[in-house]
This record gives sequence, structure tokens and C-alpha cells, in this order.
Amino acid sequence: MELAAGISAASSALEIAKAMRQIGKDYDAVVIKGQVVDLMDKLLDVKTALQDAKAETEAKDHEIEQLKQAAQVRVETVERHGMRFRASQVREGEPQGLPFCSRCDQVDGRMITTADNGRGVKCPQCKATFEHARFYLWDND
Ligand SMILES: [Zn+2]
Repeated sequence: MELAAGISAASSALEIAKAMRQIGKDYDAVVIKGQVVDLMDKLLDVKTALQDAKAETEAKDHEIEQLKQAAQVRVETVERHGMRFRASQVREGEPQGLPFCSRCDQVDGRMITTADNGRGVKCPQCKATFEHARFYLWDND
């Protein structure tokens, strides 16, 4: 949005500059001053839009970094019956404990461990329930 506003303001500034280039002798100083004020106003809009776009880009970079870290966690997980689990430390390739919430994983890219609610599992974060979810509790894990 900020970039679109910046591009629009830059286009307006260019139009004003083009008009000023074609100024003839019939224009007086008041008209020229007015156009300079308009030009400065549009350039200020461009500067503000670029600052906003810079802040938004930095926020996205931060989010990408968080998602990369979340993706690294996946290396140590095992998928079973459509749900993702922490990998067992004692049984290679086997899941351990309660599954992570599929909804939080897919929507937010976050690995939230669900809790047993008696009929399946429930996410403490988004409250999604998974009625037929299984969980794996090994003696030595
Ligand atoms: Zn969730």
C-alpha cells in the first residue's frame, strides 16, 4: 500500500515538474511558486511513503526470520496420520507425545503442542480440536 502511494505521489510530482518545464513568458512568479509548493508537497508524500515501505519491509524480514526458525524445528518432527509430532529420542522415526496443532502450523507457521481433552486433543492457542488425534507415549522418552 505504501509503495503504491509512493509511486502515485512520484507520478504527480513528475507531472508538476513537466508542467514547470513548459512554462513560458506568460507565466508569472506566483504561478511558478504555487507549482514549486505542489512539487515539494508531492515529494514529501514520496518520502513518507518510502519510509513506511521501509518499515513494512523490515517487519516482513523479521517475520521471514521467525518462519525460518520455525521451519528448522520441523526437521526434528515426524508426521503421522496427518498430524505432526516431536520426534522420539529413543525410537528412530517414531513420533512422541501429543501432536502439534495443524491449524496453527498451516495458518501461522507456529508449532503449538496440543493438550489431551479426553476425546482427542485441543490447541491451547487457537482452541481447534482434533477429535480422533492419537498420541504416542513411549516408556523411555
Ligand atoms: Zn492451534
